[in-house]
Amino acid sequence: MSEQVRITVWNEYRHEQNNPKVAAVYPEGIHAAIAAPLREQGFEVRTATLDEPEHGLTEEVLAATDVLIWWGHMAHGDVRDEIVDRVQQRVLEGMGLVVLHSGHFSKIFKRLMGTSCDLKWRESDDRELLWVVAPEHPIAAGLDQFITIEHEEMYGEHFDVPPPEALVFISWFSGGEVFRSGCCYTRGAGKIFYFRPGHETLPTYHHADVQRVIANAARWAAPTTKLLRVFGNTPAHVKQG
Ligand code: ZN
Repeated sequence: MSEQVRITVWNEYRHEQNNPKVAAVYPEGIHAAIAAPLREQGFEVRTATLDEPEHGLTEEVLAATDVLIWWGHMAHGDVRDEIVDRVQQRVLEGMGLVVLHSGHFSKIFKRLMGTSCDLKWRESDDRELLWVVAPEHPIAAGLDQFITIEHEEMYGEHFDVPPPEALVFISWFSGGEVFRSGCCYTRGAGKIFYFRPGHETLPTYHHADVQRVIANAARWAAPTTKLLRVFGNTPAHVKQG
Protein backbone atom coordinates (compact mmCIF):
# COMPACT_ATOMS: atom_id res chain seq x y z
CA MET A 1 0.00 0.00 0.00
CA SER A 2 1.56 3.30 -1.01
CA GLU A 3 -0.56 5.38 1.35
CA GLN A 4 -1.91 3.77 4.49
CA VAL A 5 -5.69 3.36 4.57
CA ARG A 6 -7.16 4.53 7.89
CA ILE A 7 -10.01 2.28 9.03
CA THR A 8 -12.50 2.74 11.87
CA VAL A 9 -14.30 -0.47 12.87
CA TRP A 10 -17.62 0.44 14.50
CA ASN A 11 -19.50 -2.11 16.56
CA GLU A 12 -22.66 -1.77 18.58
CA TYR A 13 -20.97 -4.06 21.20
CA ARG A 14 -24.09 -5.06 23.15
CA HIS A 15 -24.53 -8.80 22.39
CA GLU A 16 -20.99 -9.55 23.59
CA GLN A 17 -21.75 -7.92 26.96
CA ASN A 18 -25.25 -9.41 27.39
CA ASN A 19 -24.95 -12.92 25.95
CA PRO A 20 -22.26 -15.35 27.20
CA LYS A 21 -22.61 -17.39 23.98
CA VAL A 22 -21.52 -14.36 21.96
CA ALA A 23 -18.80 -13.41 24.45
CA ALA A 24 -17.37 -16.94 24.12
CA VAL A 25 -16.93 -16.45 20.36
CA TYR A 26 -15.84 -12.79 20.53
CA PRO A 27 -14.38 -12.24 24.02
CA GLU A 28 -13.03 -8.80 23.13
CA GLY A 29 -15.95 -7.87 20.90
CA ILE A 30 -16.70 -8.31 17.21
CA HIS A 31 -14.85 -5.03 16.53
CA ALA A 32 -11.62 -6.44 17.99
CA ALA A 33 -11.96 -9.62 15.90
CA ILE A 34 -12.43 -7.59 12.72
CA ALA A 35 -9.68 -5.08 13.58
CA ALA A 36 -6.86 -7.54 14.39
CA PRO A 37 -6.40 -9.12 10.92
CA LEU A 38 -6.72 -5.67 9.29
CA ARG A 39 -3.86 -4.40 11.48
CA GLU A 40 -1.80 -7.43 10.43
CA GLN A 41 -2.42 -6.43 6.79
CA GLY A 42 -0.87 -3.02 7.49
CA PHE A 43 -3.99 -0.89 7.77
CA GLU A 44 -4.14 1.84 10.40
CA VAL A 45 -7.13 0.67 12.46
CA ARG A 46 -9.10 2.16 15.32
CA THR A 47 -12.34 0.91 16.83
CA ALA A 48 -15.44 2.74 18.05
CA THR A 49 -18.55 1.49 19.86
CA LEU A 50 -22.10 2.66 20.48
CA ASP A 51 -21.74 3.49 24.18
CA GLU A 52 -18.73 5.78 23.74
CA PRO A 53 -19.45 9.53 23.67
CA GLU A 54 -20.86 10.40 20.22
CA HIS A 55 -20.75 6.61 19.58
CA GLY A 56 -16.99 7.06 19.12
CA LEU A 57 -17.66 8.84 15.83
CA THR A 58 -16.63 12.41 16.56
CA GLU A 59 -15.95 14.89 13.76
CA GLU A 60 -12.22 14.35 14.40
CA VAL A 61 -12.47 10.55 14.16
CA LEU A 62 -14.51 10.66 10.96
CA ALA A 63 -12.21 13.27 9.41
CA ALA A 64 -9.34 10.83 10.01
CA THR A 65 -11.25 7.80 8.65
CA ASP A 66 -10.89 6.61 5.04
CA VAL A 67 -13.13 3.58 5.50
CA LEU A 68 -15.76 2.96 8.18
CA ILE A 69 -16.76 -0.66 8.86
CA TRP A 70 -20.19 -1.08 10.53
CA TRP A 71 -21.60 -3.95 12.61
CA GLY A 72 -24.89 -3.45 14.48
CA HIS A 73 -27.99 -5.49 15.27
CA MET A 74 -30.05 -5.09 18.47
CA ALA A 75 -29.59 -1.37 19.04
CA HIS A 76 -29.92 0.29 15.63
CA GLY A 77 -32.52 2.62 17.18
CA ASP A 78 -30.02 3.85 19.80
CA VAL A 79 -27.77 5.38 17.12
CA ARG A 80 -28.40 9.12 17.27
CA ASP A 81 -29.70 10.75 14.13
CA GLU A 82 -27.11 13.55 14.22
CA ILE A 83 -24.34 10.94 14.13
CA VAL A 84 -26.07 9.24 11.18
CA ASP A 85 -26.20 12.65 9.45
CA ARG A 86 -22.48 13.09 10.12
CA VAL A 87 -21.54 9.66 8.73
CA GLN A 88 -23.74 10.18 5.67
CA GLN A 89 -22.06 13.52 5.00
CA ARG A 90 -18.61 11.92 5.18
CA VAL A 91 -19.69 9.16 2.79
CA LEU A 92 -20.95 11.75 0.30
CA GLU A 93 -17.55 13.47 0.62
CA GLY A 94 -15.73 10.23 -0.20
CA MET A 95 -15.33 8.10 2.95
CA GLY A 96 -15.80 4.40 2.21
CA LEU A 97 -18.39 2.38 4.14
CA VAL A 98 -18.42 -1.40 4.61
CA VAL A 99 -21.70 -2.61 6.14
CA LEU A 100 -21.68 -6.11 7.63
CA HIS A 101 -24.46 -8.67 8.18
CA SER A 102 -27.29 -7.29 10.36
CA GLY A 103 -26.05 -3.78 9.56
CA HIS A 104 -28.48 -4.08 6.63
CA PHE A 105 -31.05 -2.62 9.05
CA SER A 106 -28.81 0.16 10.41
CA LYS A 107 -30.03 3.73 10.10
CA ILE A 108 -27.00 4.68 8.02
CA PHE A 109 -27.44 1.87 5.47
CA LYS A 110 -31.20 2.45 5.11
CA ARG A 111 -30.55 6.19 4.73
CA LEU A 112 -27.99 5.64 1.99
CA MET A 113 -30.08 3.01 0.15
CA GLY A 114 -33.46 4.73 0.47
CA THR A 115 -35.31 1.38 0.67
CA SER A 116 -36.49 -0.84 3.54
CA CYS A 117 -33.38 -3.10 3.27
CA ASP A 118 -35.58 -5.93 4.59
CA LEU A 119 -34.88 -9.62 3.89
CA LYS A 120 -35.77 -13.16 4.97
CA TRP A 121 -33.78 -14.83 7.76
CA ARG A 122 -33.52 -18.09 9.69
CA GLU A 123 -31.27 -19.19 12.55
CA SER A 124 -31.06 -22.92 11.90
CA ASP A 125 -27.42 -23.72 11.27
CA ASP A 126 -27.51 -23.56 7.47
CA ARG A 127 -24.37 -24.18 5.44
CA GLU A 128 -23.51 -21.16 3.24
CA LEU A 129 -21.58 -21.07 -0.03
CA LEU A 130 -20.72 -17.56 -1.20
CA TRP A 131 -20.17 -17.85 -4.95
CA VAL A 132 -17.86 -15.28 -6.53
CA VAL A 133 -19.87 -13.90 -9.45
CA ALA A 134 -17.42 -11.08 -10.30
CA PRO A 135 -13.98 -12.75 -10.24
CA GLU A 136 -12.40 -9.67 -11.84
CA HIS A 137 -13.58 -7.41 -9.01
CA PRO A 138 -10.89 -6.23 -6.53
CA ILE A 139 -13.04 -7.38 -3.60
CA ALA A 140 -12.76 -10.97 -4.90
CA ALA A 141 -8.94 -10.84 -5.22
CA GLY A 142 -7.23 -13.99 -3.99
CA LEU A 143 -10.41 -16.00 -3.51
CA ASP A 144 -11.32 -19.38 -4.98
CA GLN A 145 -14.62 -19.91 -6.84
CA PHE A 146 -16.59 -19.76 -3.61
CA ILE A 147 -16.23 -19.36 0.15
CA THR A 148 -17.68 -22.08 2.37
CA ILE A 149 -19.04 -21.19 5.79
CA GLU A 150 -20.13 -24.36 7.57
CA HIS A 151 -22.57 -22.71 9.95
CA GLU A 152 -24.32 -19.41 9.35
CA GLU A 153 -27.62 -17.68 9.80
CA MET A 154 -29.61 -17.72 6.54
CA TYR A 155 -30.50 -14.47 4.78
CA GLY A 156 -32.79 -14.94 1.78
CA GLU A 157 -34.15 -13.01 -1.15
CA HIS A 158 -35.91 -10.85 -1.66
CA PHE A 159 -33.40 -8.32 -0.28
CA ASP A 160 -35.05 -4.92 -0.65
CA VAL A 161 -32.08 -2.81 -1.76
CA PRO A 162 -31.50 -0.84 -4.97
CA PRO A 163 -29.89 -2.95 -7.74
CA PRO A 164 -26.18 -3.05 -6.83
CA GLU A 165 -23.75 -1.29 -9.20
CA ALA A 166 -21.59 -4.39 -8.92
CA LEU A 167 -22.52 -7.74 -7.40
CA VAL A 168 -19.51 -9.69 -6.12
CA PHE A 169 -21.12 -12.63 -4.26
CA ILE A 170 -24.29 -14.65 -4.40
CA SER A 171 -24.88 -16.91 -1.42
CA TRP A 172 -26.50 -20.32 -1.56
CA PHE A 173 -27.85 -21.81 1.66
CA SER A 174 -28.46 -25.45 2.43
CA GLY A 175 -32.12 -24.65 3.09
CA GLY A 176 -32.47 -23.68 -0.59
CA GLU A 177 -32.39 -19.88 -0.50
CA VAL A 178 -30.07 -17.54 -2.39
CA PHE A 179 -28.99 -14.02 -1.45
CA ARG A 180 -27.04 -11.13 -2.98
CA SER A 181 -24.25 -11.19 -0.40
CA GLY A 182 -21.73 -8.70 -1.76
CA CYS A 183 -23.25 -5.51 -3.11
CA CYS A 184 -21.33 -2.41 -4.27
CA TYR A 185 -22.76 1.10 -4.45
CA THR A 186 -21.59 4.67 -4.78
CA ARG A 187 -23.31 7.57 -3.05
CA GLY A 188 -21.82 10.99 -3.80
CA ALA A 189 -18.06 10.40 -3.83
CA GLY A 190 -18.26 7.50 -1.36
CA LYS A 191 -18.05 3.79 -2.11
CA ILE A 192 -20.26 1.40 -0.13
CA PHE A 193 -19.96 -2.37 0.17
CA TYR A 194 -22.55 -4.56 1.87
CA PHE A 195 -21.19 -7.98 2.95
CA ARG A 196 -23.64 -10.50 4.37
CA PRO A 197 -21.89 -13.01 6.69
CA GLY A 198 -21.29 -12.45 10.39
CA HIS A 199 -23.97 -13.64 12.80
CA GLU A 200 -22.89 -12.82 16.37
CA THR A 201 -23.07 -16.35 17.84
CA LEU A 202 -20.94 -17.88 15.06
CA PRO A 203 -17.16 -17.58 14.49
CA THR A 204 -17.54 -16.11 11.00
CA TYR A 205 -15.12 -13.20 11.56
CA HIS A 206 -12.38 -15.71 12.43
CA HIS A 207 -12.75 -17.24 8.90
CA ALA A 208 -9.68 -16.40 6.79
CA ASP A 209 -11.62 -15.79 3.56
CA VAL A 210 -14.14 -13.54 5.33
CA GLN A 211 -11.20 -11.56 6.73
CA ARG A 212 -9.71 -11.38 3.22
CA VAL A 213 -12.94 -10.01 1.77
CA ILE A 214 -13.19 -7.33 4.46
CA ALA A 215 -9.58 -6.27 3.81
CA ASN A 216 -10.16 -6.24 0.03
CA ALA A 217 -13.33 -4.21 0.56
CA ALA A 218 -11.49 -1.67 2.69
CA ARG A 219 -8.84 -1.23 -0.05
CA TRP A 220 -11.57 -0.90 -2.71
CA ALA A 221 -13.70 1.55 -0.70
CA ALA A 222 -10.85 3.85 0.31
CA PRO A 223 -10.84 7.22 -1.46
CA THR A 224 -8.29 7.04 -4.28
CA THR A 225 -7.61 10.72 -4.88
CA LYS A 226 -8.00 14.02 -3.13
CA LEU A 227 -11.38 14.92 -4.57
CA LEU A 228 -12.13 18.31 -5.97
CA ARG A 229 -15.90 18.68 -5.87
CA VAL A 230 -17.18 22.04 -7.12
CA PHE A 231 -20.86 22.99 -6.99
CA GLY A 232 -23.00 26.13 -7.30
CA ASN A 233 -22.91 29.29 -9.36
CA THR A 234 -19.88 29.28 -11.64
CA PRO A 235 -18.32 31.65 -14.19
CA ALA A 236 -17.99 30.54 -17.84
CA HIS A 237 -14.67 28.83 -18.41
CA VAL A 238 -14.61 29.77 -22.10
CA LYS A 239 -15.04 33.38 -23.22
CA GLN A 240 -18.56 33.69 -24.63
CA GLY A 241 -20.06 35.97 -27.32
ZN1 ZN B 1 -27.50 -12.38 12.55
